[in-house]
Amino acid sequence: MGYEYDDQNIFAKILRGEIPNDTVLETEHSLAFRDIAPQAPAHVLVIPKGAYVTQDHFAEAASADEIVDFMRAVGEVCRILGVAPGAGGAGFRTLSNAGTHGVQEVPHFHMHVLAGRPLGPMLAA
Ligand code: AMP
Repeated sequence: MGYEYDDQNIFAKILRGEIPNDTVLETEHSLAFRDIAPQAPAHVLVIPKGAYVTQDHFAEAASADEIVDFMRAVGEVCRILGVAPGAGGAGFRTLSNAGTHGVQEVPHFHMHVLAGRPLGPMLAA
C-alpha cells in the first residue's frame, strides 16, 4: 500500500515548465491555473508543488507549511476570482477527486475551484 508518484503526469510537467498553463496564482508551495476544459464559468485548479497523489496523501505527507500555503492559496484564488462570499462574491465549490471511485484523471493532488453560476446538486450521478 502507500503512494507512488508518477512524475510523468501532466501537472508534474506543468510544474517543470514543460507545458504551458494559464496561471492565476503562484505561491511558495502552490500553483493555481485555469482548467483546460472548464466545467463552470470559473474553473481553477490549485495544486501543491510537492509530489503528492491525492488529498489524503498530501494531508499525511506534506509539511505544515505546505498545507497552510495550499489552503490559503485556495482562499486567495476565490478572492482573485471575485467569488468569495466574505468579499461580496456569489460563492464557489471546491472538490478533489481521488482514485478510481473519485474518477481522478491526473495523479497529482489538485483542488478544483468552480464558480460563476449556480452549481446545482453536489453530485450528478
Ligand atoms: P481530475 O478528474 O480531478 O483528475 O481532473 C483533472 C482536470 O485536469 C480536468 O478537469 C482536466 O480538464 C484538467 N486538465 C488536464 N490537463 C490540463 C492542462 N494541461 N491544463 C489545465 N487543466 C488540465
